[in-house]
Amino acid sequence: MPLHLHPGLSSIQKNAIELPAASNDMETGVPIHFWILLTAAPFLGSFADCVAQRLPVHRPLVAARSQCDHCAVVLAPIELVPVVSWIALGGKCRHCLARISPVYAIAELSAAALALWCAAVVPGWLIWPTAALGWTLLALALMDFHHLLLADILLLPLVFLGIAVNFSISEALGLASLIGAAIGFGGAFAIREIYRLVRGRDGLGLGDVKLLAAAGAWISWDGLPSVLFIASVTALASCLILWLLKLRPSLRLSSDDPVPFGIFLAIGLWIVWLHGPIRFGFA
Ligand SMILES: [Zn+2]
Repeated sequence: MPLHLHPGLSSIQKNAIELPAASNDMETGVPIHFWILLTAAPFLGSFADCVAQRLPVHRPLVAARSQCDHCAVVLAPIELVPVVSWIALGGKCRHCLARISPVYAIAELSAAALALWCAAVVPGWLIWPTAALGWTLLALALMDFHHLLLADILLLPLVFLGIAVNFSISEALGLASLIGAAIGFGGAFAIREIYRLVRGRDGLGLGDVKLLAAAGAWISWDGLPSVLFIASVTALASCLILWLLKLRPSLRLSSDDPVPFGIFLAIGLWIVWLHGPIRFGFA
């Protein structure tokens, strides 16, 4: 396999690229993987939103979401069933009738969707690190949404996991992953500094720079242009939709109304890891 190509997991499967022996033992148990992932997903989605909301403001994670955010009443287990409780309660706290954010339910559904997507595309043992990638990206995207921040405690393990997973597939992919992480970090840092020189303000956060290092670690350096392309297109499309829905005052980007770009980088990384880089017509 050439050093510079991350093929995407869908083509690892299609081209029957041999995975290391560990995957063969597990191949017969795929349906069990599937059920474990699908059962865990909504709870992990709920936890991801809890981490995203509380970690940056140093609130304890252990109590998770066992209290109403408004009246602090302790919720019964029946009020904590993912998605179902939110719908059954009409999106309101049963005790104080305060509106419960739909973001919890959206996070739970997204985590389940990521698990299904992963189970449909990913071969063998790669399903586990890929699910971990998806749920960590979900937590990062939610954190960027709530706080415009991407925490190192989620970003750095993602870099190391990406390198480890690629070395487990093959040495060539492992080396490409190391180069990818360095280019992702260096390239994004250079873009950030140039933007700051030209425009006199920050365009790309340091968290975005580290997320691009993580992207390089997972999908090698040749996948990075695709990640940036998908991130830019989805960011522009969402700005346009929010503007059309009158949820955004203007189409112009300003520091008063910043875009949580980490959400869109996360989408780009997820798609390129599963399906490979976009062929831009000259590859
Ligand atoms: Zn309440």
